[in-house]
Amino acid sequence: MNGDIYSLIFAIVFVPMMVLGWLLILDRLRIRRVRREYSRLTVETRDQVLSLIDHAGRERFTCSVLVADTPNSDPNSADVTASRYGGSPYAEAGETWPDAATGKPTPADFLIQVRLDEKFPPPWIGRLVVVFNRFDVEQTVRCYATPSTPRSMTLSGGPTPQKEWSLLSVRIPIQIGVESSTADPQETMPTPAGLLDYDPVILLESVPELTPLLKAHTSKPADLLAAILAPNHASYGFELSDLVQQGGQPVWLIEDAGPRLCQHCGKAMRFLFQFGDLNGGITLGDAGVCYVFGCDEHPNDPLGIVQMS
Ligand SMILES: [Zn+2]
Repeated sequence: MNGDIYSLIFAIVFVPMMVLGWLLILDRLRIRRVRREYSRLTVETRDQVLSLIDHAGRERFTCSVLVADTPNSDPNSADVTASRYGGSPYAEAGETWPDAATGKPTPADFLIQVRLDEKFPPPWIGRLVVVFNRFDVEQTVRCYATPSTPRSMTLSGGPTPQKEWSLLSVRIPIQIGVESSTADPQETMPTPAGLLDYDPVILLESVPELTPLLKAHTSKPADLLAAILAPNHASYGFELSDLVQQGGQPVWLIEDAGPRLCQHCGKAMRFLFQFGDLNGGITLGDAGVCYVFGCDEHPNDPLGIVQMS
């Protein structure tokens, strides 16, 4: 009788614990493997992978992903008007460093600046959008119509800069078999498959040339592709909070917040980009995502809102 009870306890308690333990070990091994494979990848191979994806999306793309390059060792040599995460923000004469909260003299963290490219219609092409972190749902967002090195100035009074990452823009092709109603990426609806167009599994289908290229470096191409798209994320996949998406439709972290309306004219604002905390901190809360919108009629006053998981 006692033997039966011990067998039952073993089956109920220890067997699931052993299975869980093995799964955790396999998970850690998989993470270590993909980090090792990514660290061995040359910049040329990484660029070749990104180039294949971008080329596949040259005619019909859903959005762009801004992929973090290696951290800038010499930020002073970088183009001050280029897209980047961390470092020092672009600013022009007459501006001051924004506060993190109303009435509190704490300087806000500079998070990201995105140079909107030709994928956007006027008046957005070439504009530079700069986002600072506020202790609030709405963030501080500044927009520059004609950013340039001669017009730029260094803002004083900010906190210690975060690690700086240059951002490489990669067009993401529309999933195979998924038809969009229009060629305009702003009008493209979310795909019915439930997986994002930049999910590594989907990209391997959309861009068949990727698999043989990645298989020369790994037995699991999707894992390595995830590490290439989100190199700061120490795992074999990635979360929304590990990425920067430019254009397309917003991918909401928790719930669809609906169209954002301009505070000046009440019209629906255009989605510009979304990003998480690429430096892996808690600036945007626990794996939060910031969404930036702008009104075509009032482009100097974009809106940035944060969702947290
Ligand atoms: Zn407006």
